[in-house]
Amino acid sequence: PSPLLPTPKLVIDLERLSQLPKDKAGPLARYAATIQSQRGDYNGKVLSIRQEDLRSLAVIYDKSPAELTEEFISWGVLDAEARRAVESF
Ligand code: C2E
Ligand code: C2E
Ligand code: C2E
Repeated sequence: PSPLLPTPKLVIDLERLSQLPKDKAGPLARYAATIQSQRGDYNGKVLSIRQEDLRSLAVIYDKSPAELTEEFISWGVLDAEARRAVESF
């Protein structure tokens, strides 16, 4: 990781998430909905999540954080910048 660049945020694209089939995206959708409810943050098109939450999601999806990040990028719910966020794990 470059010391000159800040760690990018993990930003979930909620519109894209809502278009995905439930069998894939269900656990992520429920997790994001829980965070929105805890924050009272319902009107966003995107949701910034904690790095720590990606670890929890990786356990839920039975993958490593790096593998799960690749999957979320392939679904279009995270952008490619998210790879750098996971390098610091
Ligand atoms: P908490 O962790 O005790 O955080 C209390 C408040 O501190 C949050 O209220 C928020 O105003 C601020 N805060 C804590 N960490 C951050 C941060 O990294 N960035 C920013 N911008 N603010 C931060 P809020 O947002 O109403 O959240 C209430 C509670 O909901 C939090 O209490 C936490 O238990 C839960 N929560 C909210 N968002 C998340 C999340 O993304 N992940 C997890 N694991 N829990 C969350
Ligand atoms: P940013 O982090 O690049 O976010 C850009 C815009 O994406 C935000 O504009 C907001 O419209 C959307 N966004 C990002 N994450 C979330 C989210 O978790 N929920 C929702 N509802 N929208 C989200 P906005 O709100 O005008 O903020 C502009 C900039 O102000 C942000 O750029 C960030 O640099 C700063 N900012 C806003 N709120 C916070 C915060 O809670 N913590 C920190 N550290 N910076 C914040
Ligand atoms: P952010 O608000 O720009 O915060 C960037 C990082 O600063 C966070 O990364 C965390 O390491 C640290 N940080 C900020 N505020 C607090 C705090 O109150 N307590 C502690 N212990 N650390 C804090 P992290 O955790 O990966 O979160 C990434 C982004 O997710 C945050 O960017 C914010 O946009 C969002 N977020 C995380 N937790 C909360 C929360 O509880 N409420 C809200 N509204 N947003 C949150």
